[in-house]
Amino acid sequence: MNPPRIFCIGKNYAAHVAELAQPGEAIDDDCVIFMKPASALVAEGEAIVLPRGLGSIHHEAELVVMLTGGGRDIPEDEALDCVAGLTLGLDLTLRDLQSQLKRRGEPWERAKAFDGSAPLGDFKPYLAQDLQALSFTCHVNGALRQHGHTRDMCHSVARQIHLISQLWALMPGDVLFTGTPEGVGPLSPGDTITLASPTLGTYAWTCS
Ligand code: ZN
Repeated sequence: MNPPRIFCIGKNYAAHVAELAQPGEAIDDDCVIFMKPASALVAEGEAIVLPRGLGSIHHEAELVVMLTGGGRDIPEDEALDCVAGLTLGLDLTLRDLQSQLKRRGEPWERAKAFDGSAPLGDFKPYLAQDLQALSFTCHVNGALRQHGHTRDMCHSVARQIHLISQLWALMPGDVLFTGTPEGVGPLSPGDTITLASPTLGTYAWTCS
């Protein structure tokens, strides 16, 4: 798979924003938009190769949407017409490095966009199900780490598509990571990580 762009939304579940907040950090309802390169993708069955010597690497389990395209300035109430497929994925994050970058006010690429930072399941066709009524889990070595529900998103999938289309003309095959719920935590070499949803399937990777 070689999507034109991989868009990611950060700070989209209030309980996750709260778990990462620094003391004294103001919490607002703005989201963050960033991108990963195609070399970030890891298909199911491929190993996740964790970067070495750069501090903790966290899993962020996310609903991931593939777009049909649609161009610029998509109104929020038409945005779901641009959804082609759904799956689950991981927005792997070098958390210590990200914290440093946040403190310095610098961009997040080094912490978020490294090769192998976007393990991605197989897309299932979008069948007009309610995208704000999906639940999903993330287990590491069989232990539950994250159990999210898309009703808890600060910005709905439709709003995310609208926001992105204000800046980028949507292209067929664009991929959108829609943010992670609370429960993020570290991964180590040898860990097996499993994402599952009743409607989107089960996907597993091993870290090396
Ligand atoms: Zn994320």
